[in-house]
Amino acid sequence: MKTLKFIWLDDSPKRKRFVDALNVYVFTDCKGKEYSVAAKFVDLSNLDPIEETNKQDFTKYDLVVIDHVLSGTTQTERRGSTLANIVSDKAPNIPIFGITADDKLKSINSNAIQAYEELFLDEHFSNHSSTLASAAIAFKTTKKSLLSSTNTLVNMFAPAEEEKEILLRICPRPENGIKLSMRDVYRFKKELFAYPGPLLDDKWVANVMGVKHESFKKFEALFTTALYKGIFCTPEDKRWWRGAVKSIIFKNAKNAPTAFPWEAGHNIVNVLSADHVKCGYCNERYPEVLGYSDASKSAKLIPLHIKCSKEHPYIVKKIYFEDIRIQR
Ligand SMILES: [Zn+2]
Repeated sequence: MKTLKFIWLDDSPKRKRFVDALNVYVFTDCKGKEYSVAAKFVDLSNLDPIEETNKQDFTKYDLVVIDHVLSGTTQTERRGSTLANIVSDKAPNIPIFGITADDKLKSINSNAIQAYEELFLDEHFSNHSSTLASAAIAFKTTKKSLLSSTNTLVNMFAPAEEEKEILLRICPRPENGIKLSMRDVYRFKKELFAYPGPLLDDKWVANVMGVKHESFKKFEALFTTALYKGIFCTPEDKRWWRGAVKSIIFKNAKNAPTAFPWEAGHNIVNVLSADHVKCGYCNERYPEVLGYSDASKSAKLIPLHIKCSKEHPYIVKKIYFEDIRIQR
């Protein structure tokens, strides 16, 4: 089993428990290959965080985690983003993740967050072990850390044939001779995973097929060939290629007299009327989209007809992605 080496810089010794948990964690990638983690905790409490960061040889590691707010050090005004910049100067090709306490999130400015691949809240940190492991592996094993071609980048995502053109249109591209880095690749993955578009999560795939999310497990095996297996893939956070999902629905719903996959899905063998998804607003069948119950942060994601919903007032439309809507 290969070992991934992590280093964790933090002024809060109680976070050592996360490092202890990582040291017994085993990550299984999408091909079934296993990796262990060897993580080292660097305690910055009552020390100068810049000096301590400069002492480390980051090229020996596959990933860094940095506490964002360093109020327990001798430089209370310093932020982890400054340490992140030191790390990326010394070791440009390792992923850097930030961690912070929930109550501090409001005080963080969005520029500082750019210093990290992602900034995680410590209360949810243990859910992210597979994200960290998959990022460490991808950064470590990518032969070309700098990319000059969008084709190379898109091929890393191993898109279904139906989505390849779209990915080429929306992916980041090298500009003015400046090549793309693995950090750009990670940012693109985050965008693809955050919004329904070329990639859909299980809730969306169920809805596109016209069945309830609770029924999806029954039909999941139909979509094996549409499953995302590209870079940063983890078995815990699945996605499916939208175009391939639709092709599979029409192939299995032979001769369905409709051009809509959510109607055709009802013709697939073993789809019972109890599986049919209904609109969260009017309670009729064939809701075309998932949308939010309202525009608040605590809104629930529910199946909706286009006619029973309207555009989300705050989420900007993105070409080639689904429109984000809210209930009327
Ligand atoms: Zn409706």
